[in-house]
Amino acid sequence: MILSTYDADALHRSFGIELGDIEMGAVESMGVGAAWGKIAPGQHSDPHQHDETETFVIVSGQGDLIVDGKTTPISSGMVTQFEPFETHYLHNTGSDDLIFATFYWRDSIRASKVAVTGDGRRFGDRPIFAFSTPPTPNGGLHIGHLSGPYLGTDAFVRFQRMNGRTVWHLAATDDHQSYVAECARREGRSPEEVAVHYAADIAATLALMDIEPDQVVHTSQDELYRPALQAFFSRIIGDGRIVPAEGAALFDGDTGRYLYEPYVHGRCPTCGAGAGGNICEECGEPNVCVDLIDPQSSTGTVPPRAGTITRYMLPLHELRADVLEHHHVGRVPVRVRELAHRIFARERFDVALTHPSDWGVPPVQPDVPDQVIWVWIELAFGFLWGIETLGRRLGTGWRADAPSDDWKIVHFLGYDNTFYHSMLSPALYKLASPEWTPDVDYHLNEFYLLDGDKFSTSRRHAIWGKDILGPHSVDGIRFYLALTRPETQRTNFTIAEYERVVQDTLVGTWQQWLADLGGRVEKQYGGVVPDAGIWTPEHTAFLARLESRLAEMTVCLGQDGYSLNLAARTLTGIVEDTLRFSRLESAVAGLGDWRDEARTAIALELAAARLLASCAAPVMPRFAARLAAALGIEPPAQWPRQVTLIPPGTHLDLAGQVFFGAPPEPARLAEPERLSWLSGLVRQTLRLAADQPVADATLVSLGAESLQAIALQYQILAATGADVTVQDLLGENTVAQLAALLTAEERP
Ligand SMILES: [Zn+2]
Repeated sequence: MILSTYDADALHRSFGIELGDIEMGAVESMGVGAAWGKIAPGQHSDPHQHDETETFVIVSGQGDLIVDGKTTPISSGMVTQFEPFETHYLHNTGSDDLIFATFYWRDSIRASKVAVTGDGRRFGDRPIFAFSTPPTPNGGLHIGHLSGPYLGTDAFVRFQRMNGRTVWHLAATDDHQSYVAECARREGRSPEEVAVHYAADIAATLALMDIEPDQVVHTSQDELYRPALQAFFSRIIGDGRIVPAEGAALFDGDTGRYLYEPYVHGRCPTCGAGAGGNICEECGEPNVCVDLIDPQSSTGTVPPRAGTITRYMLPLHELRADVLEHHHVGRVPVRVRELAHRIFARERFDVALTHPSDWGVPPVQPDVPDQVIWVWIELAFGFLWGIETLGRRLGTGWRADAPSDDWKIVHFLGYDNTFYHSMLSPALYKLASPEWTPDVDYHLNEFYLLDGDKFSTSRRHAIWGKDILGPHSVDGIRFYLALTRPETQRTNFTIAEYERVVQDTLVGTWQQWLADLGGRVEKQYGGVVPDAGIWTPEHTAFLARLESRLAEMTVCLGQDGYSLNLAARTLTGIVEDTLRFSRLESAVAGLGDWRDEARTAIALELAAARLLASCAAPVMPRFAARLAAALGIEPPAQWPRQVTLIPPGTHLDLAGQVFFGAPPEPARLAEPERLSWLSGLVRQTLRLAADQPVADATLVSLGAESLQAIALQYQILAATGADVTVQDLLGENTVAQLAALLTAEERP
């Protein structure tokens, strides 16, 4: 017998609380560990996860148990058990010590199963908000942008949705960036005009890429946004810890203008690489401009001078523990944790929260006249605002000033934004909503290079999405970007390599196989799917191979191991496995003695094509839907649990399908096709249901507002070359009449 009695004097500090050993003797040799735990009133254990299954027995006290963002009240006499890898911690909400006993044991089968299937892990039935980094509306989107956060978020959301998760793609434009004001100065118009112009341009490009955010906020056009942002700022400074303070700053040597962000560049004080104001894209570390080596003003000819200015200053180093605790909650890649380690190794780091500018939102406090709230505070707030705006539409009552632990936030961002998303934002959340434990997954990408050099909007060294994307190139682009996007290191884009992959892989291998398969079914089975007959061991082995490809794809696209590089390779793997199988089976395909085996081989090849359609759906939704249609099945809407045969008797339309062929000009589409294209575009832009009839309705009757008309105008222009005016769009024309108008605009 083993007897262990709780002893408050024999505890040691671990996992953020007091723990005491329980010696389990013989039981321990069977792999069960045990301990006493004590949490003082108001304290909580560190959130963590592990491969062991674990049981808590609550002995006395009361509090909350938080598991993967779900809070459950607990009190003495209760027992709870955790699955492997569930993020869990206890929070003592009572006035006495919370005392519990924990028992844990390793169950490898259980842990592996959870790791492989993923099945809702960490997400469950929580609302999932997937954010693509808000683009700065100072230019269009180039394929460097598209390959990173935008394709990443889109395929992620599509996969989660196919698995029945409650998930949205939320986007915004970061209108108050100083880069917008700088672009306006260059282009000789107002920042508002620049923001509206490029917001429409960005929307048009995303539509061409088959990326359909569920919501887009334009911060300079949303009238509710401004006071809500000011209220957020007031909450940040509410407890009096952050006050206006004098600090060093940089000024133009000629004009005396305050220098930050686009107005100054130099060398990074940390790594010595060329860096802009406030952030170094090389090492990811922030700077405060005045610490730049050899700083130069973007407009001045004489060296800048250092001076002082009074701004609201955040002592970020004081929030070190809070930020690091946040990094234990969600999916926080090593690159984030390593950068945090470097930044918080600084003895102190004071971050200015306001800057002199005439573009942006000023605080309501009168202390810093002529200053605006720094736009990176808008980033942190904008995510919460996006959730509130979505909630208003859905009637859920979500509020930016009362964020919920139940919210699962997923960010897709470039490495150069890591500091803002994963360090500054959680620090601001701690100040604005101390009770909230934000649960955030971060998905980073590195730089995508173009011909060996960084993409640059300001230098126009870029391939713009709208120049390369069209209905017949979008699948090829999405596949190529998925395959080569810089997930773990910088990668390089060249047009020649992209064209080679489309020709060799997509046209020369995938399409060739599908057309050949369609031809064989046409010839041998009259274009109708045969029933599988007798299965040879090779057939069974091929089915097993396809099952392992499906399992691989499920891991590649899942929330833990998300990688489009690996997903694209797996898609190609499905086709290569099937070609190998098909070549072997072809030896007996025409022999009468083996016809029952031959039809099994064909049924399996068609099952592989069906699997390809399902697995490609998040990455190449247009191709997936077209392939499914050619196979006589519904577009893939659910993620498959296993590989299944196409029902025998199904009519195919596979032979002669061109999935990745030469692009016909969209403007030359036959009229019914153009109406169907325009109807789809209208539904998407106006956020209508996919089956809502629109052909005989005017855009105004469908609820179109002028900004949506501008967005439509850009998208029509980009896709067809037809310049339909906003007056035409918002006038008496029905959608069908507008489609006819496109015909009239068609160029000879
Ligand atoms: Zn650096």
